[in-house]
Amino acid sequence: MTETIFTQQEWLRYSRHIQLPNFGAAGQTKLKQSHVVIVGMGGLGAPVALYLAAAGVGKFTIFDGDTVDETNLQRQVIFNQNDVGHAKALQAKHHMLALNPHIHIDAIPDFFQPKHEALIDQNTSLVLDCTDNFNTRYLINDVCVRQKVAWLYASIHQYSGQCALFTPGHACFRCLFPAPPESAPDCNTAGVIGVLPGLLGLFEANEAIKYLSDLPLELENRLLLFDALKLSVQKIQLAIDPQCFCQTGEKGKFSSPQMCAEVQQQSISVLDFNLHRERANTTVIDVRTEAERLGFNIGGQHIPLQEILTLTDSNNHWEKNRQYICYCQSGSRSEQAAQHLQACGLQAVSLDGGLLAWLKHASKTQMLHP
Ligand SMILES: [Zn+2]
Repeated sequence: MTETIFTQQEWLRYSRHIQLPNFGAAGQTKLKQSHVVIVGMGGLGAPVALYLAAAGVGKFTIFDGDTVDETNLQRQVIFNQNDVGHAKALQAKHHMLALNPHIHIDAIPDFFQPKHEALIDQNTSLVLDCTDNFNTRYLINDVCVRQKVAWLYASIHQYSGQCALFTPGHACFRCLFPAPPESAPDCNTAGVIGVLPGLLGLFEANEAIKYLSDLPLELENRLLLFDALKLSVQKIQLAIDPQCFCQTGEKGKFSSPQMCAEVQQQSISVLDFNLHRERANTTVIDVRTEAERLGFNIGGQHIPLQEILTLTDSNNHWEKNRQYICYCQSGSRSEQAAQHLQACGLQAVSLDGGLLAWLKHASKTQMLHP
């Protein structure tokens, strides 16, 4: 028997690809010879990593500087309860190899930064953006434009998602988004339906497999817009911006590193919250929606944010010398509420990190008694 590209086991494993018209042994060989870089092992990275590992992409470099958190498990299906507290990149590698031992993975437990630029070069087949922030996407874009490497972009927001494939010589990400949006909340503050990153991750994985195996592409130089409520898909042709750095050759500028909501200035920690809430001159206010309130709460009065925002200096009969502590799911709406109450001349603070921070603290200290 002469030496072959695939082992007996691999040939059996990939038989459904090999039997597929227009894919075949040639397509499978291209996958095996590919090196993909996945930046981010969150909601998008989980399905991307699992499906590309299962499909038989030969070599991976995966980045994530985060550790697995309990709140990730609602959508980051590559992880399980035992991974909580451990590095995402290393746990993801472990699960990918458990799924397919015939692949090679370099796991980097760090966020993708300019110092990693050298890890993307002419030998990189494709980069997959599975992050949740614009700064990293600009960095991926700039590196890929310079190195002439194709990359796939995906993002999600509440019930909608976007995906695009940027290839050398066509419009780049900066042609599409010359500047980051004013406010780009991530899943931690905006919330996300659990399957949506899964769907967008699979759009990415699907386009990645087609790109790597030379099948016809649908998202090259196009932006896909997906609405999870209507199940509608739109595709928009992208155009090169002649002023963009990909055309002028000027070095891309990185935007400010502070994209996500800053930590509240007028906020209190969980420890202080637990101390203050029992005081006679303190009122705790849950500013979340009715549905959230019914789902779970830790007491206090219920006054939704929208209602608080209708208060004015003169129309409220609230007590000026009372301390109001607002809380919501993650601390962002309660911060807005506290700021508004302060503007109405009241003493108000927000529970930093919201109910999530409170629950984490409670589960650590075994005192889950609202
Ligand atoms: Zn450009």
